[in-house]
Amino acid sequence: MASHPSCAVRRRAPPPEVTYDVIVLGLGAYGSAALYQLAKRGARVLGIDRFAPPHEMGSTHGETRITRLANGENALFTGFVRRSHEIWREIEAETGESLLTQCGGLVISGASKASVHVEGFFENTIANARANGVAHELLSASDIRARFPQFAVRDGERGYFEPEMGFVRPEACVRAQLGLARGLGGEVRTGERVTAIRSRADGVEIVTDRGTYRAGKAVMTLGAWLPELCPQFAPLLKVYRQVLTWFAVDGDEAAFRPGHLPIFIWELPDSHDGIYGFPVLSPGGGLKVATEQFIDDVAPDAAIREVSADEIDAMRRLVAPHLPGVGALCLKAVTCLYTATPDRQFVIDRLPGAERVIVASACSGHGFKHSPAIGEILAGMALDDTDGPAPFRLGRLG
Ligand SMILES: Cc1cc2nc3c(=O)[nH]c(=O)nc-3n(C[C@H](O)[C@H](O)[C@H](O)COP(=O)(O)OP(=O)(O)OC[C@H]3O[C@@H](n4cnc5c(N)ncnc54)[C@H](O)[C@@H]3O)c2cc1C
Repeated sequence: MASHPSCAVRRRAPPPEVTYDVIVLGLGAYGSAALYQLAKRGARVLGIDRFAPPHEMGSTHGETRITRLANGENALFTGFVRRSHEIWREIEAETGESLLTQCGGLVISGASKASVHVEGFFENTIANARANGVAHELLSASDIRARFPQFAVRDGERGYFEPEMGFVRPEACVRAQLGLARGLGGEVRTGERVTAIRSRADGVEIVTDRGTYRAGKAVMTLGAWLPELCPQFAPLLKVYRQVLTWFAVDGDEAAFRPGHLPIFIWELPDSHDGIYGFPVLSPGGGLKVATEQFIDDVAPDAAIREVSADEIDAMRRLVAPHLPGVGALCLKAVTCLYTATPDRQFVIDRLPGAERVIVASACSGHGFKHSPAIGEILAGMALDDTDGPAPFRLGRLG
């Protein structure tokens, strides 16, 4: 007997509609920080990510990120870094995780430098250290050779050494903040892609490939994918694929461990490329060293994830003359995405025409160190309607 259609299909009652105070879209560096800060303040929060953070598809992976108090990019950043360090120490105390290691850091530059991270980086760093009371020492080439013989500096090069500089572990930071947010009642949905954001009279509606959610506000921290959801960002932001490499140390590895080798940023002489790197974190783990490029931009989903032999060779050629104790054997290489504005600063603002949507992105290759402090600012913008920092408003980009 054929069943009546209304009997064959049992109608389920629609799930009760949950309305959140805030939904965070994208749970990388900024999104995980914002989710944690919102949950800590008692907000009903939902975080959604298309992957399962921490993951290797965006901008927040590769074991380490440099953190430095005096920033050559913007004097304002010192306040963010100081606050971020406090938050990381609080999270460490709460979770028992090791997130921040302040092993000292050295910026090397010289008159013959041809590489530029941002214009006037070395001089700005010193000026910002002086203006913000950041402890530091200025070193001559012979000082550097005596103290850090791992670096083959040339005559005329000089160094800025900051003892509080160090590195942060990005994957552990994301994991810890998402874990804490969950513990405070926050919900996290991973493997779910946001496809649209709609403004409503009383809030926002977030549409994903699995459902629709409502909230009073949304915080959009989509990293390199921001223009995909908000095409108005496409002319303002460019995404640059970067390569990270780990090279084996020849000989005395102890000299390259934290406490012996500082973090380094080197505006290389006679080379368009600069390098930066980290001490060896585990026996045989290799020294992580990288350069950066702002020439070829790419759509994030089209970025080639493999690293070619030519790219590793190019890195080898930069490393060999400057770090003689580092060998030719490349142990590992991965890619990562920078999202950059033309002025290499950030975007932290409300979305024009959609005031309930707050956006933070484009950390232009130097945003991780600020992420906990910016998470706190984003929580304030969502819950207290505070303004974001004026220098990072969208209006400046035209
Ligand atoms: C090679 C490299 C080296 C760097 N070095 C440093 C450094 O030494 N010091 C420093 O301070 N900073 C550094 N940075 C910069 C810093 O790591 C980034 O600024 C920061 O991690 C960016 O975080 P984010 O939250 O904006 O992006 P991400 O961490 O990439 O997060 C964006 C998230 O949004 C999710 N998402 C995207 N689209 C959707 C969608 N439609 N639906 C749901 N989810 C979505 C993604 O899956 C992702 O998880 C470096 C960056 C790179 C790439």
